[in-house]
Amino acid sequence: MKKILAIHTGGTISMSQDDSGEVVQNEKNPIANQDNLLGRNIKIVNEELFNLPSPHITPKVMLKIVKRIKEAEHEGYYGVVVTHGTDTLEETAYFLDLTLKNDMPVVVTGAMRSSNEIGSDGLYNLLNAAATAASEDAKGKGVLVVMNDEIHTARYVTKTHTTNVATFRTPTFGPIGIISKHHPSFFQELIQSEVVDINNVVDGVYLIKGFAGMDGTLFDALDNGKTKGLVIEGLGAGNLPPETLPSLQKLLDRNIPIILVSRCINGVAQDIYAYHGGGIELQDMGLTICHGLNGQKARIKLIVGLSAGKSGQELARFMGNAIS
Ligand code: ASP
Repeated sequence: MKKILAIHTGGTISMSQDDSGEVVQNEKNPIANQDNLLGRNIKIVNEELFNLPSPHITPKVMLKIVKRIKEAEHEGYYGVVVTHGTDTLEETAYFLDLTLKNDMPVVVTGAMRSSNEIGSDGLYNLLNAAATAASEDAKGKGVLVVMNDEIHTARYVTKTHTTNVATFRTPTFGPIGIISKHHPSFFQELIQSEVVDINNVVDGVYLIKGFAGMDGTLFDALDNGKTKGLVIEGLGAGNLPPETLPSLQKLLDRNIPIILVSRCINGVAQDIYAYHGGGIELQDMGLTICHGLNGQKARIKLIVGLSAGKSGQELARFMGNAIS
């Protein structure tokens, strides 16, 4: 019998719809009563760690989830499922991926329809996530996200639709596996990346999106003595309007690390363009180009890197290449 710990943290998967059609929180989690997976040799042990909508989840909460999973490693569990609101699910999943060293399967899931709505996907996703966490093949693949019959990596999955159950996608690279009739099958895996141990999380790490006609106003606001790091979603392959550069230079002069990703949903940021404000000049100024992560993932990685005490070249190397 494989024991799977289901750590519930809140979100739509633990909510229900009231008579007026509003989706509301519950005191008692309506899906935390399943302990047997379709008669298979899998026992789910439910634990309510939090009951938070995912916009209320912070990096400090993520660290508490990491701590609970580390304890579970010593309690005889084969794998762990984390249920989570979908709005920030990709951030928590990637935080876990960057900070959990073991091979124990960890699978994050959620729902787009609450527990009593017609076509509710919560219990279905929970069972699929537990089946994946109990699978031998899920070991050593990093933290996984299971939603809507697909298995994605925490590193690259993202929420792409506000309401559709097929919202979780992996742009550019695709899912690493599928699930049919609650049986997971894997077709590819990621190149491993560095995992770090942290005991606290830093504040003051921000994410700003580039736009046509952008100037330095938002960056000047971050020159406030509290900012510890910044991720910018640049235009296209990783470019910015030239009017932003003097303000960026001021932040760099204060040793604030600035990470550049692309605001495009597909592809990776690169130093391709040599015009004023292009990726080549930004890199020469001292911005670190992060290839392949979206803005919210790069911010989580920057928080983890800074929290581990990385700085300078070491931090740039950690952030610089998500692919290796
Ligand atoms: N707003 C909800 C949340 O993230 C959405 C969901 O769970 O699907 O908590």
